[in-house]
Amino acid sequence: MTPESPKRKAPPLLSDPISGRKVVLAPGRRRRPGNGNAGIAAATAEELERCPFCEGREDKTPPELLALGGTAARAPDSPGWKVRVVPNLYSAFERQQVVIHSPRHVRSVTELPPGQLALVVEAWAEVAERAWREGFDHLQVFVNEGTAAGASLAHSHSQLVWLDHAPPEVALEQPQLSSDNCALCALLAHLNPKLVLDERKVGKSILTLAVSPSGRAPYELLVAPSDHLGDAFGATEELAAAFALAVEGARRLNVVEGPSPFNIWLHNFQGDGHWHLELIPRLNVFAGVELGLGIFVNPTPPSEAARLLRAATNEVSGAKARP
Ligand SMILES: [Zn+2]
Ligand SMILES: [Zn+2]
Ligand SMILES: [Zn+2]
Repeated sequence: MTPESPKRKAPPLLSDPISGRKVVLAPGRRRRPGNGNAGIAAATAEELERCPFCEGREDKTPPELLALGGTAARAPDSPGWKVRVVPNLYSAFERQQVVIHSPRHVRSVTELPPGQLALVVEAWAEVAERAWREGFDHLQVFVNEGTAAGASLAHSHSQLVWLDHAPPEVALEQPQLSSDNCALCALLAHLNPKLVLDERKVGKSILTLAVSPSGRAPYELLVAPSDHLGDAFGATEELAAAFALAVEGARRLNVVEGPSPFNIWLHNFQGDGHWHLELIPRLNVFAGVELGLGIFVNPTPPSEAARLLRAATNEVSGAKARP
């Protein structure tokens, strides 16, 4: 380490235009010991034998709320489904469900074919419709993948939380995302093209997968449609394309860093807002600075992250695990 010079300038504090979150890019911290990828461990025999989400073990979950992809003759809680929604047994909220992404024991969203991802989004939208009918105001979707990201069961799944009001993170962002003065529209309009990893056109919208210019963690990704589409669950085609793009980002992350833990969530808005997905890899630990000061130290500049993720485009998914 070089000795501190009294004239050394502090790195600039970035402010995320959507959330207001403060970020410092500190590339020097990248080689700190203990910064290795926590990775994703391989499936154990016990995991495979006991997994309650695998087809044929429907009796190991609470009764299903919804199943997609089965024949009309299929009885509830029996095999023959493609996506299944069941109550979360360990719910922290009044209503919380698990969306099981596949009848097979698939351990990552990156292993799901596009049609299966679209079916998952269809399940989210059907649950959302039930939530609106019952007077709930917000349905929070998230994916936790890998133990370091909070996943307790390896079989690929997402979770849905029904809320009476927008949760704090969504409420915090909403004022910046109104259609007359939207920070996300401005971000997309002025985005450095080098941060863009991929784009897809659906109807009149272009969906963009990009490295967040003010990511709080290495390789943090943002997926957003080019315009305001109202409730994301009412725009399932666009939402499915956005989810597929986020999964593509995860696939590239796995190529660059080895199988990695991450969270994906949707920020959706009732009324005025600009929905988007965020993907945050869990490769570093948030410590005193992040949690105590509210300043996120990101050791990988977004331009560097984008360079690596763009180069990963043609490689096969499911990179080798790190030693
Ligand atoms: Zn399973
Ligand atoms: Zn906007
Ligand atoms: Zn957000």
